Amino acid sequence: MERENAWKKYDEKAIECLEGISARYRDFLDKGKTERECAAYAVDMAEKHGFIPLEKAIAEGKKLEPGAKVYTAPMGKAIMMFIIGREPMEKGINIVGAHIDSPRIDVKQNPLYEDGDLAYLDTHYYGGIKKYQWVTLPLAIHGVVVKKDGSAVNVVIGEDENDPVLCISDLLIHLSQEQMQKKAAEVIGGEDLNLIIGGRPLKDTEEKEAVKANVLGIIKEKYGFEEEDFLSAELEIVPAGRARELGFDRSMILGYGHDDRVCAYAELEAMFMIEDVPQRTCCLLFADKEEIGSVGATGMQAKYFENAFAELMNLTGEYCDLKLRRGLAASKMLSCDVSAGYDPNFASAFERKNAAFLGRGVCFNKYTGSRGKSGSNDANAEYMAEVRRIMDDANVSFQTAELGRVDLGGGGTIAYICALYCMNVIDSGVAVLSMHAPWEIISKADLYEAVKGYNAFLVNA
Ligand code: MN
Ligand code: MN
Repeated sequence: MERENAWKKYDEKAIECLEGISARYRDFLDKGKTERECAAYAVDMAEKHGFIPLEKAIAEGKKLEPGAKVYTAPMGKAIMMFIIGREPMEKGINIVGAHIDSPRIDVKQNPLYEDGDLAYLDTHYYGGIKKYQWVTLPLAIHGVVVKKDGSAVNVVIGEDENDPVLCISDLLIHLSQEQMQKKAAEVIGGEDLNLIIGGRPLKDTEEKEAVKANVLGIIKEKYGFEEEDFLSAELEIVPAGRARELGFDRSMILGYGHDDRVCAYAELEAMFMIEDVPQRTCCLLFADKEEIGSVGATGMQAKYFENAFAELMNLTGEYCDLKLRRGLAASKMLSCDVSAGYDPNFASAFERKNAAFLGRGVCFNKYTGSRGKSGSNDANAEYMAEVRRIMDDANVSFQTAELGRVDLGGGGTIAYICALYCMNVIDSGVAVLSMHAPWEIISKADLYEAVKGYNAFLVNA
């Protein structure tokens, strides 16, 4: 069954709304190029919309009434927001969850060296990337350096028009006879991803590595940290520059990190659209570390969601372990993550009847996984039926898809982790072209439909 392109149904008012969301989303992408930056942006928005820190509510022993709005941002890399509903949480809550980490290149702990009169940072890539895509591009560094005294230096270099950018070189085509015979996975190796950061030696110095010494001097002067402080830093190398409108008709957005910030941003808009006190408690969740298996203290496998759920039950006066378990099991979730958009250039990678097309609306993946659905959260038919009803009632354009052709590859999301509580979870997201490339492509229409769909789910599920 072919679904209609969503653009065909829009009137002037819808287009105006769609363009507003798209412009605000581009600002989110430009300011949120790391999980920390995305979490900080979301915290800022939450506070502007009257959400209070969960920690403050706990400290004050504040009783949370229906309509209360709270948020918590574990380690500044994940975030959860809640609007307390009229029903007790024991009956379950409605959750939209996305991830805010994106594939990138991280700076190593001992990164700095000099070779051939150039200074470099050595790196270790993060998540699944085609390494050859990341050379010969203008790159920026975003992150934090924490010094021994606990003070943190925020670093953003390569984004301001007057900033320099950084770059990884590739071999000239003239000398690439051997390189061009290699498999794509080996054309650029992990240890070849060395970032050029300087090329001007200090004058009148005894230093053997005068280019490196000069760069260190600049770092010290501009950011106030020393070579040793790289040991306790999280510096992420990302494409430099802003998200742009794409196409003569401006129908798409070319940006870094649509996976999965497009779903994260759609959740923000959907959450802040809620004006009346909802029936069931509404929850927005951004997780970190999805791209490397949802591990670590800020990944979805950590217990912060369960802990926050328990704290909220406590503050609404209904906490006990049994009610907590009942509440988690009775909850409903959209695991919001991007899906592979059908790409006519690579048509054989897809099965058209079950592919997501750019512009045809928010996408639902009953299952993901590899081979025989391995690693997939295969949502229940009953739940899928409920979601269809909610989308149709709210006039949301949606489509269903699998992640490409069977047996070609596959992927996972955070869905299976939340399903461990026995709650209903289904994957839902925006179709992306060139997923995990430095610059990915989405349709504004799909973003707009995701916002409407997530809002309808939060309020009506
Ligand atoms: Mn993702
Ligand atoms: Mn991904």
